[in-house]
Amino acid sequence: MIVVLKPQVTRHSPEFAELMTLLSHKPNITIRIHEETGAHRTLTEIYLIGDTVLLDKAEIESLPGVERVVRVTEEYRILGRHHDDTRPTGFEYNAVRFDQNNLNVFAGLCAVDTPRHVEMMMKALRDHGQTCTRMGAYKPRTNPYSFQGHGAQCLPWVFELAGKYGIKVIAMEITHDSHLDEIQEALHHTGHPTGVMVQIGTRNTQNFELLKIVGRQREFPVLLKRGFGISLEESLNAAEYLASEGNRNVVFGLRGMKSGAAEPHRNFVDFAHVPVVKRLTRMPICIDPSHSVGSRDRAPDGILDVSHVTAQGVIAGANMVLVDFHPAPHLALVDGPQALLLEELPYFLEDIAIAREAYERRQKLAARSGQVLRVAEGS
Ligand code: PEP
Ligand code: MN
Repeated sequence: MIVVLKPQVTRHSPEFAELMTLLSHKPNITIRIHEETGAHRTLTEIYLIGDTVLLDKAEIESLPGVERVVRVTEEYRILGRHHDDTRPTGFEYNAVRFDQNNLNVFAGLCAVDTPRHVEMMMKALRDHGQTCTRMGAYKPRTNPYSFQGHGAQCLPWVFELAGKYGIKVIAMEITHDSHLDEIQEALHHTGHPTGVMVQIGTRNTQNFELLKIVGRQREFPVLLKRGFGISLEESLNAAEYLASEGNRNVVFGLRGMKSGAAEPHRNFVDFAHVPVVKRLTRMPICIDPSHSVGSRDRAPDGILDVSHVTAQGVIAGANMVLVDFHPAPHLALVDGPQALLLEELPYFLEDIAIAREAYERRQKLAARSGQVLRVAEGS
C-alpha cells in the first residue's frame, strides 16, 4: 500500500507524526519512506509492506496529511501502474523530460573510439537539433579478446565534447559499480558539462547486486534493457529492484529477444511490447532498433530494416530511441555493420517524426472511438 502525502506535508510536519502514530500501531507492517525532490515540491510517499490487506484505506485517507492511498498489487509496487493510480509517469533530468507521453532520440556511437569520431557525431547531433546521445565506454563483449571499451580514460574528453555541442544526456552502459564512481569523478573534474543516463545492458538485467547499487544512487537516471532470454515479468521485476532501492527514474528498454526465429535479424524484435509495458508500469519505454536488427539491410521499398522497426516502435508509442550511428562504420571497433551514417541522420529523424505524428493521430482516433463506445454503452 502506498500513502501519498499532501504536497506541503513533510517528515517534519505534525500531520506526518499523526500518521506515523497510527501506522506504528498496525501489526506486521513495515514502513518505508520515499521522498522525491522536484523543481517545485517534494513528494513524500510512504510504502507499507506486510499484512496490508487488513489496513483500512478509508481510515488512513481520512487523516489530514494524506492526499491519497493506493492499494498496490504485489508486483512492481513502485514502478507499476495500479488500480486508481493517477501518479505521474516519468521524470526530468538535466532539463530533458522523460515520460510515457514524449519521445527522445539517443543516436550515437555504440562504443567510443577516437576523439575525432566522437566530435563528428556530437556536431552532427547539434546540427540536427539533438540534445541526447549514446556513447559506450564500458563494453561487455562476448569474446574476451574483443575491444572492451576505453573505460574511464575516455570519459573527460567525451564529456567535454558533449558540453561543447550542447548534449545534455549521454546513455552510457556500466557493467560494474566502480564505473559509477568513475563517471561521477569525470563529470566533477570537467565541471558537469553534460549528464549521464546509466545503462544496464541485457547481460546484466538480473545482476541484482549491481541493480541494488545503481538503485541506491539518485544522481543518474537508469536505462534498464530487457533481458534477452528471460520473461517480460522477470525484466520488469529487475526494474523494480532499482526503484525499491530508491531510484525510480528508470526507462525500460526493449532491444529484441535472443531466438533462432529472429534470423536474419540479430534479435527478435519485441516492440509489440511497448503498449504492454506502458499498461503494466509507469516507466517511459525505449526501443533499440540497432541491437534488434543488427545490420544495415534494406527492404525492396528502399527503407532500412533499422528504420522499419524504429517506425514500428514509435508508432506504438515508444518514448526513447537508442540507435547506433558512426561517421565511418568500417572503422568502428564495435557493431560497425549495424551503424547508420551521419549523412542518414536527418532522414532517420524525419522518418521518426512521420511515425510519431501517425501515433498521435492514432491516439486521437482511439479517443474518438472510446467516446462512441461510451455513448453506445450509455455510460
Ligand atoms: C548496447 O546498447 O550497446 C548494448 C550492448 O545493448 P544490449 O545490452 O541490449 O545488448
Ligand atoms: Mn552494440
